[in-house]
Amino acid sequence: MNIIVCIKQVPDTVEIKINPETNTLIREGVESIINPFDMYAIEEGLRIKEKFDGKVTVLSMGPPQVKSALREALALGVDDAILLSDEKFAGADTLATSYTLTAAIKKIGNFDIIFFGKQAIDGDTAQVGPGVATLLEIPQIVFVRKIESIQNGKILAERITEDGYDVIESTLPIAISVVKEINEPRLPSLRGKMSAKRAEITIWNFDDLNLDEKFVGLNGSPTQVERIFTPKLDKHTEKWNDSPEEMAKKLAEKMQRFILK
Ligand SMILES: Cc1cc2nc3c(=O)[nH]c(=O)nc-3n(C[C@H](O)[C@H](O)[C@H](O)COP(=O)(O)OP(=O)(O)OC[C@H]3O[C@@H](n4cnc5c(N)ncnc54)[C@H](O)[C@@H]3O)c2cc1C
Repeated sequence: MNIIVCIKQVPDTVEIKINPETNTLIREGVESIINPFDMYAIEEGLRIKEKFDGKVTVLSMGPPQVKSALREALALGVDDAILLSDEKFAGADTLATSYTLTAAIKKIGNFDIIFFGKQAIDGDTAQVGPGVATLLEIPQIVFVRKIESIQNGKILAERITEDGYDVIESTLPIAISVVKEINEPRLPSLRGKMSAKRAEITIWNFDDLNLDEKFVGLNGSPTQVERIFTPKLDKHTEKWNDSPEEMAKKLAEKMQRFILK
């Protein structure tokens, strides 16, 4: 079973900073983690490999510092790590991201399942998995909470819906996005951490992939974030120190005025 897991490095949520000119994330100098949902995708990939044999490759598009996320995945037991990094890829929207990842997946070639997290906690669109599946013209199941079986070139999976779940059967190869109910991600072993430190990470840039420059990075992105801002909170507070009766009366009057307004 050949598995590819697409992972995104995201800023630690409390430290998200946006470049006000381009409205893209400022990644430099920001503490980063593997997108939490992608940890479940890695775990599921590893479990399938342990059951059926094969190989798990992690794939990420991002700046050079994403190597640390890929090393984290290698420490968990992933076999190979590929980073797609080039200044031309910067500022990609979901379509340009899907297009670039798809070119890399085509270059990897042989795969049965491509795993994605349900969504990235910064961009939050949940579009990249479906985008890649569409460009590759393969089936997809999103929001998967359980893989029931894989046999005879087919997969049976449960995906969460608003009021329950569906059981879906599909042929392989397939793209799957996972929710956190699917498993409990493992922790890296000491041996895993040591070998991940020495492991080689393959880096592919624009010239390594069969890409059209018109469709990559900020210039190849039809969606561009116009403006990001924190809504102004117009808060007005008053402090009262009167007797409870007095305050209750004042409050009732205020509420009446508010209702009649
Ligand atoms: C605040 C904010 C708002 C944004 N809004 C939009 C928007 O409305 N429209 C738009 O097109 N773009 C938007 N972007 C840009 C968007 O972050 C990028 O396109 C990003 O690379 C992928 O989109 P996402 O973060 O929504 O990922 P999602 O589609 O939510 O990610 C789903 C899964 O896809 C995989 N994945 C995602 N990105 C990568 C990657 N770089 N490498 C490998 N795997 C990956 C992971 O498995 C991830 O769990 C926004 C970014 C920010 C910071």
